[in-house]
Amino acid sequence: MRTLSEHEAKNLLKNYGIPVTKESIAGSADEALAIALKIGTPVVMKISSPDIPHKSDVGGVVLNVKREEVVTTYNKLISRIEKAVPGARIEGVLVQQMAGPGHEVIVGLKKDAQFGHALMFGLGGIFVEIYRDVSFRVVPVGKKEALEMISEIKGYPILRGIRGKKPADIDSIADVLISVSQLAEKENVIELDINPLIVNEKGAIAVDARAMVEG
Ligand code: ADP
Ligand code: MG
Repeated sequence: MRTLSEHEAKNLLKNYGIPVTKESIAGSADEALAIALKIGTPVVMKISSPDIPHKSDVGGVVLNVKREEVVTTYNKLISRIEKAVPGARIEGVLVQQMAGPGHEVIVGLKKDAQFGHALMFGLGGIFVEIYRDVSFRVVPVGKKEALEMISEIKGYPILRGIRGKKPADIDSIADVLISVSQLAEKENVIELDINPLIVNEKGAIAVDARAMVEG
C-alpha cells in the first residue's frame, strides 16, 4: 500500500481528464520563482512531504503569493516546517496556480471489501466536518447518478446560487464524479480524496488531492 503525494494524486486525476492546478515541485527558492513566473502569479505554495498529510495544520500552505514574495515564502516555508515537524522528509515546495474564487466541494472514494468502491460527494469545510452533509453511491456512477448525488445534499441550494451569487457549474462537478468512478474501475485505488475541488460558474478544478493505492 502506498500513499500518493498531492502532486502524484493530481497526475492520476489528470490522466482521467479531471482539471487540476498547473503546478511543479521546486527544490530551491530560485526554482520556485522560475515555476511561479511560468504559471503566472499570484501562486499558491505548499510544503511537499510524505510525513505531512494535513499541510495547513502546520502552516504548510501559503495562498496568494506575489512574484516578489516567492523567494522569501520558499525559505519561510522550509524553516517553519523544520521547526513544526522536526525530522519530516521534505521533497520541496509545490508551486501552483491559484484557483477560484468558488465553492469548495469534496469528492471521496473508498474501497469496501463488500460493496466495492463507494463514491462520496459533499460541500467542503464545516458542511462535511460538522453536518456530515454528504451523499454516496457505489461505483460505477454515470451522469444520472452523479447529478442525483449532487442534488440530494442539503447544501445543494448553495451551489445553485443564493443571494445573488452565480450558480456553480453543476455539470462540471458531475463530470469529475464520473471520471473518478472510471478511475476506480481501472486503477488499484483503496482511497482517494479531492479536498477541495473548487467550483464556480466556469467549471471545477482539483486544488488538493490524496490517494492510497495498492502495491
Ligand atoms: P491541506 O493539506 O491542509 O488540506 P490544501 O492543499 O487543501 O491543504 O490547502 C488548504 C486550503 O487552501 C484549501 O482547502 C483551499 O481553501 C485553499 N487552497 C489550496 N490550494 C489552493 C489553490 N491552488 N487555489 C486556491 N485555493 C487553494
Ligand atoms: Mg486539502
